[in-house]
Amino acid sequence: MNYCSTRNNALEFTFSQAVLMGLAPDGGLFVPKALPTFDFEDERWSAFTYQETAFEVFKTFMSDFSEDQLSRCISAAYDDKFDEQGIAPVNHVEELNLLELFHGRTLAFKDLALSILPHLMHEASKIQGNRNKIAILTATSGDTGKAALEGFSDAVGTEIIVFYPRDGVSEIQKLQMKTQTGSNVHVYGINGNFDDAQRQVKRMLTDESFAQGLIKEGVQLSSANSINIGRLIPQMVYYIHAYFQMVSAGKLRAGEPLNVSVPTGNFGNILAAYYAKECGLPIGKLMCASNQNHVLTEFFDSGIYDTHREFHCTISPSMDILVSSNLERFLYQISEGDCLKIERWMGDLHRTGSFKLDKSMLKEDFYAGFASDEETREAISSVFSTHGYMMDPHTAVAYHVTKKEPAFLKEPLLIVSTASPFKFSEAVLEAIEADSDGSIKTLSEIMAQPVPSQIALLHKQPILHDTSCEVEEMQVVVRDLLMEVKS
Ligand SMILES: *Cc1c(COP(=O)(O)O)cnc(C)c1O
Repeated sequence: MNYCSTRNNALEFTFSQAVLMGLAPDGGLFVPKALPTFDFEDERWSAFTYQETAFEVFKTFMSDFSEDQLSRCISAAYDDKFDEQGIAPVNHVEELNLLELFHGRTLAFKDLALSILPHLMHEASKIQGNRNKIAILTATSGDTGKAALEGFSDAVGTEIIVFYPRDGVSEIQKLQMKTQTGSNVHVYGINGNFDDAQRQVKRMLTDESFAQGLIKEGVQLSSANSINIGRLIPQMVYYIHAYFQMVSAGKLRAGEPLNVSVPTGNFGNILAAYYAKECGLPIGKLMCASNQNHVLTEFFDSGIYDTHREFHCTISPSMDILVSSNLERFLYQISEGDCLKIERWMGDLHRTGSFKLDKSMLKEDFYAGFASDEETREAISSVFSTHGYMMDPHTAVAYHVTKKEPAFLKEPLLIVSTASPFKFSEAVLEAIEADSDGSIKTLSEIMAQPVPSQIALLHKQPILHDTSCEVEEMQVVVRDLLMEVKS
């Protein structure tokens, strides 16, 4: 199976090439040239563990890896660093079905892909005979940063560099990154937002003279953001596994369509669900759930993607994004690989901050909605009082938007739960009781659950990274530190 750029499908790449490069040289994103079809009527899927499901999917999508290589990656990634044996369990809380993706080391869904990405890159390096050091550039809205740091910490032959919005992440997210250990990790707060960080990362990855200069020094750039196809494929696995968990639990008849609601920022998670659907998984409607930064809601309603709007810092900070990179991969699917059109839309976006497509291109299976912070808090509080289940603010956004959409009320629904409430204790407690101190200890008492060990001791750990820079300085920071670690 081969991959191509969203902006040029004449050139083909293997999976290992695509995962090492991160972004295509023309600035496009790597996509499967054509999506395969799986036989989901085969009863084996219901019996597969998470790891076996991953193996089955990867065999097709990572066809230049040997089966040994795939098994090695999978067993190194999905082990007891997850606090649930099932890795990504579907929790049935009365009539709610919640796909809990927060049982990894950093308590957010990014762990599912970022636990395996370093192993995929390592094996890809072997396949490609790569001798360069790989420098992983990562922009984060809060959760990718920590998950990438954990995944790549002390990984041989790599440096990992994370840029986060200094004033746009939760306290726990910030502490998680500032206390990260590892001899190859570098963390910077920037005076800007996620969009600024991601724009600079993409610019560095496509700046040929910058890349050439580094290659001379034996360093190759890549990315751990969801622009890397190595993030997307592992994310398909949990949708497939969840579907068959629900069949096994009697919540779904085999073959019956399952609607899915996904809290969305960079459009990676929901795109993985869409890929799974396109490969034949009986997913029905897809709900693209946004917070107050609802550029995607407008896009699905009108066909107009317009970034000229106020940027809001919300209580679901991991979704505070106006330029959703993975939408470009969606455009590739719906335009049936019309690279010229994509180039035109992306050119418009780059030059004018917006682009427009014919609304009829947007397939009927996509819905979109958004929740304000107030609505998000209401959702957290009402689900806690009626079901005794505590949602994090991102999950609450996905819950809220389905309540307003009649098409989602009658059919089986999976709500994707992307983070542990403990990661956002202040916002969650504010929703439950206004005068709380916002601490993880108080949250633990109210939920009658222990504080997850992953963050229980965070406040006692030494701050190892406390540097910040301007958005415009990012490239110089990267060059200087790569020169320094080399010498
Ligand atoms: C990253 C993130 C999202 C958004 O996912 P995308 O793939 O960027 O759309 C939602 N919720 C949480 C908790 C996240 O960390």
